[in-house]
Amino acid sequence: MQNENMPNFLKKRAFLTPDRTAIYFHDETLTFNELYHRSVKAAGQLQGLGVKKDDYVGVLLKNHLDTVIILFALQLLGVTAVILNNRLTTAELAWQLNDSKTKIVVLEPSLSEVGNALKSSIASLSCVTNNQLFLMKSEVPIIQEEVDLADICTVMYTSGTTGNPKGVMQSYGNHWWNSVGSALNLGFIERDCWLCTVPIFHISGFSILMRGVIYGVPIVLHESFDVEKVLADIKNKQVTIMSVVGTMLSRIVTAIKDEHLPEQFRCMLLGGGPAPLPLLQSCVEKGIPVFQTYGMTETASQIVTLSPEYSLTKLGSAGKPLFPAQLKIELDDGSDAPAGTAGEIVVKGPNITAGYLYRPEATMEKLRDGWLHTGDVGYLDEEGFLYVLDRRSDLIISGGENIYPAELESVLLGHPDVADAGVTGVEDDSWGQVPIAFVVKKDGADVSVEELVDYCMSRLAKYKIPKAVYFTDLLPRNAAKKLLRRKLREWLKEAGLDDENFI
Ligand code: ATP
Ligand code: MG
Repeated sequence: MQNENMPNFLKKRAFLTPDRTAIYFHDETLTFNELYHRSVKAAGQLQGLGVKKDDYVGVLLKNHLDTVIILFALQLLGVTAVILNNRLTTAELAWQLNDSKTKIVVLEPSLSEVGNALKSSIASLSCVTNNQLFLMKSEVPIIQEEVDLADICTVMYTSGTTGNPKGVMQSYGNHWWNSVGSALNLGFIERDCWLCTVPIFHISGFSILMRGVIYGVPIVLHESFDVEKVLADIKNKQVTIMSVVGTMLSRIVTAIKDEHLPEQFRCMLLGGGPAPLPLLQSCVEKGIPVFQTYGMTETASQIVTLSPEYSLTKLGSAGKPLFPAQLKIELDDGSDAPAGTAGEIVVKGPNITAGYLYRPEATMEKLRDGWLHTGDVGYLDEEGFLYVLDRRSDLIISGGENIYPAELESVLLGHPDVADAGVTGVEDDSWGQVPIAFVVKKDGADVSVEELVDYCMSRLAKYKIPKAVYFTDLLPRNAAKKLLRRKLREWLKEAGLDDENFI
């Protein structure tokens, strides 16, 4: 394949619009020119450590300015950033560092202890904190004027919801096409300003950094999600777009009470997992312009998005594939599913990864003729709108009927006393499998198993009603806050089934 080269993204942006604001973080503001020069300096410091083109460097940093500078410095040097989730345990981090054969990591000073533990388990590893790095002498860095779109810009591990995380190779082309696809869909205006409260170590956050530079619009970076700060900055910094996951959006909905978001705010991009219908409904009532999206680490963020004009008529749909992407629903025999029939969601497009790092077999299994087999189940309606049902591995088959745990969870979450809900299947002699629900009650709520079952009865077909409901204080979630249904299955295996909870 012929190489497709483009100018280095940040260098080009700093040349085109040097004085525009690139980023707001606390009280600091950097223009694209300043961001570029600080990244060049950091590139010289990284080079001083022996880092050079085509190396892999681990990045174990939180959301702040230094992280942005270091990530762009690596791009200037043509180095692949292995972006690590700072909420992982030391053992999980060691696994990913070994898996990616990473030899050098830039980390938070507050994670120095973790760094020491990692060094003692991986002999060849060296660690440097961002503070130490920025005190070092800067060499004149060898800047890569061009990027080959096929080159690997970042390696990011999947969330590990269904098993061990896999290192996804994300090329410059993947990030470029994701930014372009997103702009063609969400529209693009010069006064756009994107609020990033999601982690940069996750594709949802990293893709915002890339879009900021590619579009030439500012981003407002927060360390983490704080609803008061979010509402204040949407107003003060004239934010127009924000990326959220469901739990963040429900906190925003609660916090704004009867008020509306400021008029310039035009897009609440909601992704990361199934969106509970009651939440979408309350956003419609409050005039919050929700764009539901579907995407994954392998698609360099969103690949399917629903515009708000369809919020009501297509409630619960994730929308249509973005302009550069294609999507179909595949049945078990490999044929295309007709409209309304559920099957595996398969996607294709220039934003899709070339594969998993050092895992040719997993790559071959998931990527066939350029089509990524997502492992998610969904269907298309007559007009081509996608409805994501659930993960294939979590599907419950009861008496020959398919039950999608996400549907039951969504119903349970609609109950006023329910704070969180998780559903999984267990083996059953008569039905093959039956659904079991785990529920976290809201503070002070006193709902009974019978009430919850009645509530489900009035909303779901009989075979979908949970056969047992267990109350618990907390559901097992991974570092990306995704529900680990496989842990629920382990809980049930360990504890055995308790007859009292059965209906
Ligand atoms: P792993 O692949 O290691 O099991 P993961 O799939 O959770 O982890 P991510 O790439 O972070 O890792 O998440 C992508 C997944 O999130 C999708 O494949 C899908 O299952 C789920 N998801 C994303 N958006 C939606 C959506 N709108 N509706 C339902 N599920 C979604
Ligand atoms: Mg996945």
